[in-house]
Amino acid sequence: MEETQQHVDILAIAAHPDDVEQTCGGTLLRMAELGYRTGILDLTAGEMGTRGTPEQRIAESEEAARRLLASWRGNLRFPDARLENTISARMTLAMQIRLLKPRVVILPYWEGRHPDHYRTSELGFEACFLAGLRKLDEETEPHRPYKIVYASQYANVPPSFVVDITAQFERRMAALLAYQSQYGPTPEGGELFPRESEIRERLGAIARFYGNLIGVRYGEPFVVKETQRVDDLVAMGVRSL
Ligand SMILES: [Zn+2]
Repeated sequence: MEETQQHVDILAIAAHPDDVEQTCGGTLLRMAELGYRTGILDLTAGEMGTRGTPEQRIAESEEAARRLLASWRGNLRFPDARLENTISARMTLAMQIRLLKPRVVILPYWEGRHPDHYRTSELGFEACFLAGLRKLDEETEPHRPYKIVYASQYANVPPSFVVDITAQFERRMAALLAYQSQYGPTPEGGELFPRESEIRERLGAIARFYGNLIGVRYGEPFVVKETQRVDDLVAMGVRSL
């Protein structure tokens, strides 16, 4: 994935390489298949992780992006495991948003166990606001995303909506497995793919659970803060009984 700037319709912002593949990769793939340009911006290279170097994880994330048919992927190389919502971090992120001009931004849910995840959520929200200020920077045009949705897969809260990823599920799994440093066999060669089968079972169960909520096989959950509008009651999906 080249780092040349281009516009995207949908931008997923995440703390670590492989977060997007677990929480909204199926949705990004589905949107790419609808003809939208999708982008992924990781804030850190996950250098505090036990396995793999930052360079390896970035290379793996580029392969994963190809598998998700993403038009663009970047990494801001902010410090992993000690991500902070500073003015400099917000400005850097706001400038990326101005250059990429997404209509929709996907952020991690705003509460969670890992501080990097909820800080990414807050940082992303504030950067979306800043990006719309004309006087932020003379060189770039202001741009405020229209819609912010929160990927809530690990939040254990009722989703506002679920995207059907039944047709994308296997390819989302293939994108996640591009991270061989994380999910591949151990260098010692002791266990044969224990991580792959474990991760497949876990993510399959979660996607199955959310899919079931909308009457499909696999789904990805999202939360929005605004009430959603309905124009046609007869066209509403998801059976009540
Ligand atoms: Zn993460």
